[in-house]
Amino acid sequence: MKNYRIAAIPGDGIGKEVIAAGTEVLSCLAQRDGGFEITFDHFDWGSDYYKQHGIMMPADGRSQIENHDAIYFGAVGAPDVPDHVTLWGLRLAICQPFDQYANVRPTRILPGIQGPLRNVKEGDLDWVIVRENSEGEYAGQGGRSHVGLPEEVATEVSIFTRAGVTRIMRFAFELAQSRPRKKLTVVTKSNAQRNGMVMWDEIAAEVAREYPDVEWDKMLVDAMTMRMTLKPQSIDTIVATNLHADILSDLAAALAGSLGIAPTANLNPERKFPSMFEPIHGSAFDITGQGIANPVATFWSAVMMLEHLGEQHAADRLMRAIERVTANPDLHSPDLGGKATTREVTDAVLEAIKGDN
Ligand code: ATP
Ligand code: MG
Repeated sequence: MKNYRIAAIPGDGIGKEVIAAGTEVLSCLAQRDGGFEITFDHFDWGSDYYKQHGIMMPADGRSQIENHDAIYFGAVGAPDVPDHVTLWGLRLAICQPFDQYANVRPTRILPGIQGPLRNVKEGDLDWVIVRENSEGEYAGQGGRSHVGLPEEVATEVSIFTRAGVTRIMRFAFELAQSRPRKKLTVVTKSNAQRNGMVMWDEIAAEVAREYPDVEWDKMLVDAMTMRMTLKPQSIDTIVATNLHADILSDLAAALAGSLGIAPTANLNPERKFPSMFEPIHGSAFDITGQGIANPVATFWSAVMMLEHLGEQHAADRLMRAIERVTANPDLHSPDLGGKATTREVTDAVLEAIKGDN
């Protein structure tokens, strides 16, 4: 029998609460399925670790997890540690060396959930956002001179490489092709940013020739926010840069009802390194410790992890269980306007898994 070794990194805040729920659900699924086992190794890296050791993860941290089948990640960020320390010290310290360049973010209105858009229901909004996750605006390049003086100048340099853009574009066309509508929207800002973004447009047109069956179009990122809000039905797969997709996916999560249900996968498509699965949301210290964090995003991330591992049957079973639970408003957590606790939502998903045929 297959035994998957998963590195669980709960991180900070509600990350600990939702990963605890997620590992429980995954273990239940493995038992229910009977065809595979899952072993979790837990790593207590994050802001608490930082306060004790001055680093977010041990120096040999990456080598401790590089042979795992996948990484199941909670969230990082604490009110008393600077954001760039937590982000660069842990999340990006895993994503970048493991070359998880494809960040995939499905967004869909789940049964029983009403998003903020009137007249937009289940089925009207079914997207996957592909975010370039290794370069672009978050390359960390640039600097500051004359800091604090009136003549201070700061530069934040975006780096786009032909190789980096081509591989994410090909990934996005492949993904669009695998979906029923075979539709891709390439998002840039090539009217105002005339180097990297123009190269994006050119590479999109080149790669598109390899996928004649994919219907594709181009959109400026500002116009895209309007289209997502006003014509969600017209969109299927989206590919965008690190920064643009970061912003679009928060919008997407909100339009689908809550940040608390939005999952993501950081993929190394070549499978040279482990991929990482996590909820989109952060550590949410405003609700930490209250037992009301919505675990659905973390469960949906587990669906993506199972798909990546090749356990499609278990992935489908978990998605069915999630949808059975969201369909019942009594099982909505406060972010969705309900009163259910993390425990209640988790128990309901466990029940639905056990009762699923
Ligand atoms: P980050 O900087 O890591 O992106 P953030 O400060 O942007 O974090 P989040 O921690 O993602 O913010 O939280 C944003 C808001 O959404 C908060 O009010 C938080 O309580 C709420 N929220 C986020 N995730 C959940 C969840 N799983 N369940 C319920 N509410 C959530
Ligand atoms: Mg945020």
